[in-house]
Amino acid sequence: MKDSFGREINYLRISLTDRCNLRCEYCMPEKGVKKLNHSDILSFEELYELTRIFVELGISKIRLTGGEPLVRLGVIDFISKISKLEGVKEVAMTSNGVLLKKYAQDLKDAGLNRINISLDTLNEKSYQKITRGGSINDVLQGIKAAKEVGLTPIKINTVLIGGFNEDEIPSLVDLTIDNNVDVRFIELMPIGESAQYDLNKFIPNTKVLEKVKGLEKVHNEDISSPAAYYKFPNAKGRVGLINPISCKFCSNCNRIRLSSTGKLKSCLHSNREIDLKESLNNGQDIKEVIKKAILTKEEEHHLEDKKYISRNMNQIGG
Ligand code: SAM
Ligand code: SF4
Repeated sequence: MKDSFGREINYLRISLTDRCNLRCEYCMPEKGVKKLNHSDILSFEELYELTRIFVELGISKIRLTGGEPLVRLGVIDFISKISKLEGVKEVAMTSNGVLLKKYAQDLKDAGLNRINISLDTLNEKSYQKITRGGSINDVLQGIKAAKEVGLTPIKINTVLIGGFNEDEIPSLVDLTIDNNVDVRFIELMPIGESAQYDLNKFIPNTKVLEKVKGLEKVHNEDISSPAAYYKFPNAKGRVGLINPISCKFCSNCNRIRLSSTGKLKSCLHSNREIDLKESLNNGQDIKEVIKKAILTKEEEHHLEDKKYISRNMNQIGG
């Protein structure tokens, strides 16, 4: 499936829920999100039907995200169904890791290939603060469990926040020396909760290279990946820098997104959405609806002009 700029679209990110068991300050409102009506959320039957059609159209990589994907009951069963679809090469997940200790083995058995785990700090108190009440021990045990069952390679996603975790950059980078994990520093994006943040919280992730000497650039074979990778000589893992604002990766973008309410977003940074749940319910030809939507995928985002989307990250899954 190609868009009108010749980009091959083969990567679908599905947000299974906008709910979460944490309340990260930059992502979710403190009181959580308004509970949606059951009928407004895609059922697993609808999700499977849409995924099947996407795969027929050429999607080969699927990532489950949220909100927190592991809080939606039925996720394991869903993975075991979609991982068996002909044409699916990889099913991955982005999770906060809190429930991973409990589910790692089931996820692996169901056919999940890999997992990205979000962790912004290694300090227990700071973790509790940024997540508004989470316990870092749960995540560390989750990472251990994921490694043990082979949900690898594991990537740790760290959002860089000025005045919060800059000082921890060296310790986070050091995790890559003896562990076969990639630690990826993501620049904070001014969307949703963080749209009103003071400018000093937005720091460029070149800070990582300023603070840590001796990292060497490594070739990233995946050209659609938004990360530039670095490595210490002899380290087991890599250090990734993802700068959605200061450095555009739009020209190699291969991804589209499906929200838990069935909205297809062809660009994370655009407010334009196509309602696939409605199209399903109206008996429309979903394949044609999707194909048409892909042809209207934006060429690039305009964050540099401060054109930010109105949704929070928990609603679209990052
Ligand atoms: N709950 C899961 C998790 O935390 O990994 C999956 C959903 S979460 C929305 C996906 C990713 O988006 C996380 O790594 C999170 O840190 C990141 N994120 C959320 N809000 C962000 C923002 N304003 N700027 C940059 N990254 C953000
Ligand atoms: Fe939940 Fe992930 Fe958002 Fe944190 S970043 S509140 S874990 S959805």
